[in-house]
Amino acid sequence: MPELPEVEIVRRGLDNLTPGLVISDVMVLRPDCVAGSPGFLQQGLSGQTVGAWRRRGKYLIGQLANDGHWVIHLRMTGQLLWITNSQPLAVHTRARVFFDNGAELRFVDQRTFGRWWWVPPGQAITEVVTGLQPLGPEPWECTTAALFHRCQSTSRPIKTALLDQTWIAGLGNIYADESLFLSGIHPRTPCNQLSAQRVEQLRHAIIKVLETSIALGGTTFSHFRHIQGMNGHYLDQAWVYGRAGQPCRVCGTVIQRTKIAGRSSHWCPRCQA
Ligand SMILES: [Zn+2]
Repeated sequence: MPELPEVEIVRRGLDNLTPGLVISDVMVLRPDCVAGSPGFLQQGLSGQTVGAWRRRGKYLIGQLANDGHWVIHLRMTGQLLWITNSQPLAVHTRARVFFDNGAELRFVDQRTFGRWWWVPPGQAITEVVTGLQPLGPEPWECTTAALFHRCQSTSRPIKTALLDQTWIAGLGNIYADESLFLSGIHPRTPCNQLSAQRVEQLRHAIIKVLETSIALGGTTFSHFRHIQGMNGHYLDQAWVYGRAGQPCRVCGTVIQRTKIAGRSSHWCPRCQA
């Protein structure tokens, strides 16, 4: 599933390619990829000039010239593909947006959990896209004091807390495991046993891991690639994620994997004692 770095990379692709272009037509091939009425989205987007794209958690938010918004969540398998020649449609193509320069944006989504929203001018984005409301701060905006305060309030494992989108927006399984490794914290550690200093180390590790991944183009899953088809390379140098049974890159101890609250967790028994 795409996490923050992958969504950020898609955002950068959209922000490179689409601002200034006018949407000439929209085709929704599978109505349930649109939250609300596909007809309203078609009408709302058609004729609009696209502005900048921003990201909030794993939501992509496109500004339209009339102050409306186009919001996209890729969820598990959603992919956006930038098409500039007559490529045949992929099997799971759900929607197509045509631009006045002849290019096309296709939304391909095998599992069909991905969603598009059209937010009319004058309406608050969070009113239409209610999933934005409970999101915690972006990792770069999360302070050590706030994170430590939350940790003090619960004894649940830190790994589970890091996946909670109301704590920090956008973090998922891969980067939670990687951040815990970099800060030397065992994933089962109860939140309220972490000192302010450990929480500070963890916050730094989260930012470092996310920035490294963004620089490497993210992680390529079977259903994620850049908008123009490139792959990401984060997993080639991951510390622990996906490396169960292999030696730790720091101490050589065999990396372990176990389930914590239903999610597989990878860690080094020596570096994260
Ligand atoms: Zn180690």
